[in-house]
Amino acid sequence: RRGSGCRGGLRLIAHSLRRFVSTLVVAEHEGGFVKPSSLSALAAAEAIAKDNKVSVLLGGSGPALHKAADHAACSHPLVSEVLVADSEALAHPLAEPWAELLRSVQQKGGYSHVIASSTSFGKNLLPRAAALLDVSPVTDVTAVKEPHVFVRPIYAGNALCTVKYTGEGPCMMSIRSTSFSPATEAMSETKVAPITQVDLSFLSEGKSTWVNLTSQDTERPDLANAPVVVTGGRGLKSAENFKLLEQLAEKLGAAVGATRAAVDAGYVPNDLQVRLLVYHEFCIMPCTAVILASLPPCSTSHLLLQVHCCLPFLNNHSGHSLVVLFMQCVFRPQVGQTGKIVAPDLYMAFGVSGAIQHLAGMRDSKVIVAVNKDADAPIFQVADYGLVADLFEVLDELLKKIPEK
Ligand code: FAD
Repeated sequence: RRGSGCRGGLRLIAHSLRRFVSTLVVAEHEGGFVKPSSLSALAAAEAIAKDNKVSVLLGGSGPALHKAADHAACSHPLVSEVLVADSEALAHPLAEPWAELLRSVQQKGGYSHVIASSTSFGKNLLPRAAALLDVSPVTDVTAVKEPHVFVRPIYAGNALCTVKYTGEGPCMMSIRSTSFSPATEAMSETKVAPITQVDLSFLSEGKSTWVNLTSQDTERPDLANAPVVVTGGRGLKSAENFKLLEQLAEKLGAAVGATRAAVDAGYVPNDLQVRLLVYHEFCIMPCTAVILASLPPCSTSHLLLQVHCCLPFLNNHSGHSLVVLFMQCVFRPQVGQTGKIVAPDLYMAFGVSGAIQHLAGMRDSKVIVAVNKDADAPIFQVADYGLVADLFEVLDELLKKIPEK
């Protein structure tokens, strides 16, 4: 009898713990809407507890922020509050002010969980905010087993690890948006979560400055969210040939991806975003930013190499012996461990061998089609449909047979 009493007691404790699950979702927004990746973070909050009390934190400035707040307020029945941090300092994804904001909101709200999506913004922000709160973040969560037990990939996605968060502070986690379908359960028209302005008097002048964002305008869907992705590898052999893939993508309304080898070989069009953050405590001359911003597109390693080559020149001209730069480079077309993680409905790989670093970025795709002339290429081990053929013949036929969109 004592035993069953104890079990009853444990059940009671477990139940009361569940009741105290409350989550802060750090949401990103664009064009007045919460981004799908952040709706995936909401879905993860729901997976933690069905009765989770979720606050959504949105930051930035201008009318688009407030429109996005309205969107968040009616995005899901679990949303109990939308917190709006309206400041120019938060208009760009600079980790320093955002981490300060997150620390302050967490300290006031005492949430049991803080969730961000594993976007470049989330990856930049979460560890910094976790350090300020003195907790260890759990990154790249792909499934929630219990409120503090999660599944996350290790070894470039070759193994899945189940981890338990045992820390005393909030459980700060980033989730892979491709593993959680965006929360879509609509709220009833009468139930809209209240919107509260966050007090930002604590925000101090940060050490980094937003310089600019260079990106190419394209009508194609974003690689991370596109339902169809057409990817080319070194088998395409040239930038000229890569245009064939773009024609196919145009016809299918697909996003274009590439392997790192194809990016490094320069086959892929100039479609990179460089976010350049300059620590101005080192008084870097404006020419520094111009030189770095005008570096040609290249892989991360090449870019860092070029920065290293520039350093002696920069040091001479800035009058300081040390220049510290922090750059975030997002190479939009690269799929894989060091590129984008995608999980579209259809992934078509042409001339891609299927190295593990590439598979790490696309193996969760719903249907994978691979065209490779080598029957032993590892890509066929993950492909649902594999065609051992010359990719140029296949592309030629596809382009002839698929009608214009
Ligand atoms: P290859 O391996 O050279 O394969 C080309 C394929 O094309 C071959 O299988 C060949 O049979 C086929 N082919 C050639 N001609 C034809 C034809 N006419 N018709 C049909 N098929 C043809 N790679 C990534 O992609 N993403 C990453 O994020 C990434 N991160 C990395 C991180 C690290 C730390 C390291 C070390 C490597 C990383 N790589 C990454 C590189 C990765 O290891 C591979 O080198 C790369 O993915 C190979 O690209 P590929 O398949 O285009 O080229």
